[in-house]
Amino acid sequence: MSTLIIAEHQHGQLRAITRHAATAAAQLGGDIHVLVAGHAVAGVAAQAAQIAGVSRVLVADQADLAHQLAERLAPLVTSITANYDNVIAASGTFARNVLPRVAALLDANMISDVLQIVSSDTFVRGIYAGNVHATIQTTDAKRVLSVRPTAFADAGTQANTAPLETLNWQVAATDARLAEWVSAEQTVSDGPELATARTVVSGGRALGSAEQFQKLLAPLAGKLGAAIGASRAAVDEGFAPNDWQVGQTGVVVAPELYLAVGISGAVQHLAGMKDSGTVVAINQDPDAPIFQHADYGLVGDLFTLLPELTSKL
Ligand code: FAD
Repeated sequence: MSTLIIAEHQHGQLRAITRHAATAAAQLGGDIHVLVAGHAVAGVAAQAAQIAGVSRVLVADQADLAHQLAERLAPLVTSITANYDNVIAASGTFARNVLPRVAALLDANMISDVLQIVSSDTFVRGIYAGNVHATIQTTDAKRVLSVRPTAFADAGTQANTAPLETLNWQVAATDARLAEWVSAEQTVSDGPELATARTVVSGGRALGSAEQFQKLLAPLAGKLGAAIGASRAAVDEGFAPNDWQVGQTGVVVAPELYLAVGISGAVQHLAGMKDSGTVVAINQDPDAPIFQHADYGLVGDLFTLLPELTSKL
């Protein structure tokens, strides 16, 4: 048994969720290798080599992989899968983009958002917005899995770093033509990563504007050392960036403390936060569904309550 993890990285930093994927890989058993693909990724490769349990890091460091376009990564991944039984990555936008292409090229099923590894071919995953857990068994020779970071602990680091192996990958002209990187708009945040944060403060449509989001939520998140999240309505209204969206079609979080501010508690939002430890809701409607899932509820106007809460903290 051997597993290849596709590392996720941004701004020269390995994303913590890759270490969570390593825990899932350890449960599959056997050798664990990590692929670091991109440009100027020596620092990322060094961080990947420190992940506990990893025995080799494959590094594809070249300009034409700079933006980690799925159309270029997928053929690279499939070109090295001969020796692996499993290809995995942490669930999220990156995995959603790359892994289905890898699965298609390998003629395998894509098994997404795995919550539990039962055995080498049997996995538990959520369906119907996480309301049902399905146990599925695959007959595929190679398994392509995305694993939910909040369902697997951080693997931590190891003292003896894994050796690095350089890959010289030639992007085929046909793959290079499939997609072209134009530009990226990214949110740079000083706070913790949303997917793995211990505290999350999320705002909904009721915040009313991007300015109110920053003015009211950022100071509270700063005081709590929290990541900021948002409902889809808030994202669709342009109050918060896309990568802050918590829910079925956003990021799944399971922090120790989740604070939902001006969020109604639609089933699709709950799918992304219902495994949180303690849920606190602030909403002016005492009948808002979010209160049925909250450990503490504060009924009132967020524009009064949030500044008060922040100042008391
Ligand atoms: P609203 O439903 O408009 O609720 C706003 C809440 O704020 C209300 O409860 C109101 O009482 C309260 N409020 C208003 N003013 C104040 C005030 N001054 N003080 C305090 N409280 C106040 N949603 C997600 O969040 N994440 C997803 O991933 C997601 N995926 C979806 C996927 C699909 C296929 C579909 C169909 C929908 C999805 N949605 C998702 C949308 C979801 O159904 C809801 O529409 C959305 O979550 C509502 O966002 P909201 O709670 O911010 O807004």
